[in-house]
Amino acid sequence: MNSNRMILKQEIIGPMMNFIYLIGCSETKESAVVDPAWDIPAILKLAEDSGLEIKHILMTHAHPDHMNGLEQLLKDTNAIIYLNRNEVAYMKECGDATGIPTLFMESRSENFMIVEDGDTAGIGNLTVQFLHTPGHTPGSQCFLIEGNLFSGDTLFVDACGRVDMPGGDVGKMWHSLNRKLRTLDDSTILYPGHHYGSRKRSTIGEQKETNPFMNFTSAEEFRRGMGM
Ligand SMILES: [Zn+2]
Repeated sequence: MNSNRMILKQEIIGPMMNFIYLIGCSETKESAVVDPAWDIPAILKLAEDSGLEIKHILMTHAHPDHMNGLEQLLKDTNAIIYLNRNEVAYMKECGDATGIPTLFMESRSENFMIVEDGDTAGIGNLTVQFLHTPGHTPGSQCFLIEGNLFSGDTLFVDACGRVDMPGGDVGKMWHSLNRKLRTLDDSTILYPGHHYGSRKRSTIGEQKETNPFMNFTSAEEFRRGMGM
């Protein structure tokens, strides 16, 4: 692992305290945007100021507050979009609600790279590992890059994403948090999808100590803990 070659920008954007991330390779100047939403000109300027070219779009999930700038960013960059296989049907189902109708996905089908749990991709010389973490939505995914976890609405600092919206599943969320993300190295740095906690980032080790949602021993207990 050589974290020196990773350039990382974390910005709070929009009315729902979304975090967007720009992740770049300092060696090739290639970069990725995690969850393009709300203010695409600001994201483009950030890339320009950082001397980075946006070639990849990493989608944690298909909720509008994480992707309402997708179409615009695509027009400006023609980047490749990485979407989990289990989110494809969900994204189409959301249809007009997400502002990304099926027609758009079909017309841009060559830009979509459909990925599965464990797949990897390159951002210049950086490697992204895709982790399927359903629960908030069927195809929610996290990205592990050079010891950093970009967790979308699966894991927040001392909290987790909602499971009571369409496509949500409390049992799967328990598994994603307590069986999957809990097994990551304690030193993994956590970068969530919203600024809902007391700080902008944490670590898996810290979350194992302080996040109640990572400390339920069974899905049933987790369900009760969430009042469901
Ligand atoms: Zn969401």
